[in-house]
Amino acid sequence: MADEKETCKNSACGCPPQDGKYCGASCEGVGDTVQIDCDCGHPECSGNF
Ligand SMILES: [Zn+2]
Ligand SMILES: [Zn+2]
Repeated sequence: MADEKETCKNSACGCPPQDGKYCGASCEGVGDTVQIDCDCGHPECSGNF
């Protein structure tokens, strides 16, 4: 039982995933690269500086 909140697979991103993994094409393009900020553009994103 995993009760942790679903978030985007981009570790810098805190958005809910739209397709099961990533919140959008921007994060999907990040792939396995570890980023310290997120460029997904969602105003509610906790990783977007
Ligand atoms: Zn994001
Ligand atoms: Zn994302």
